[in-house]
Amino acid sequence: MKTLPYSIRYGEQVVAFELTYSHRKTMQIAVYPDGKVVVKAPEGAPLEDVKKRVLRRGRWIKKQLDYFQQFEPRTPPRRYVSGETHFYLGKRYRLKITSGEESSVKLSRGVLRVSVKDSTSPETVKRLLDLWYAERAAAHFSASFERCWSPFEKQGLPQPNLKIRAMKTRWGSLSAKGNLTLNIALIRAPRECIDYVMTHELCHLVHRNHGSGFYRLLEQTMPSWKKHKAKLEITSV
Ligand SMILES: [Zn+2]
Repeated sequence: MKTLPYSIRYGEQVVAFELTYSHRKTMQIAVYPDGKVVVKAPEGAPLEDVKKRVLRRGRWIKKQLDYFQQFEPRTPPRRYVSGETHFYLGKRYRLKITSGEESSVKLSRGVLRVSVKDSTSPETVKRLLDLWYAERAAAHFSASFERCWSPFEKQGLPQPNLKIRAMKTRWGSLSAKGNLTLNIALIRAPRECIDYVMTHELCHLVHRNHGSGFYRLLEQTMPSWKKHKAKLEITSV
């Protein structure tokens, strides 16, 4: 299957996409967390039609790209200045930095308030925020494990060790030694997405690969999994 690079202009922005032709009746557009836009078109579809269709979905594509950018470690680094948008559990917060009696991070009504004791330099703010996200991730990922574990426990499966790490290309993994690792960036995604990744990895306790048995178990354990996966890796038809 041959993949060709194309682009369209949407407003101020040039949106590059990969185009693949295959035996299919409808066109599909997908935006991946790494910012890649992939278009699958029926064989013989004129390029002009494909581009028109991509352009019509421009707003949606732009929205997905913005959403995924927060998880993307390589693209515009956060500047850690007041007014910047940061995500927490799928919600958008505006960063507000103040200097105060002691260092703290608090959430209130759409504002992520960082109070810094000494310098309000971006490095200090980043360090405080990283620490805060790590603490929140530890608490929320354990809670997610509690919510998701019981159907697996009932099958007498060995309980995995929960680990948290920054990962570039995946949301989670399960090692042969029984370490279940979640990407710390998931703390920026909605709770249901955290539970979806958790459940996905727990299903690997039974099926190591992504065969039909794996998907049967996932479907049975979390019938709404596709919806949550879509939030992390959105596909549009
Ligand atoms: Zn998997």
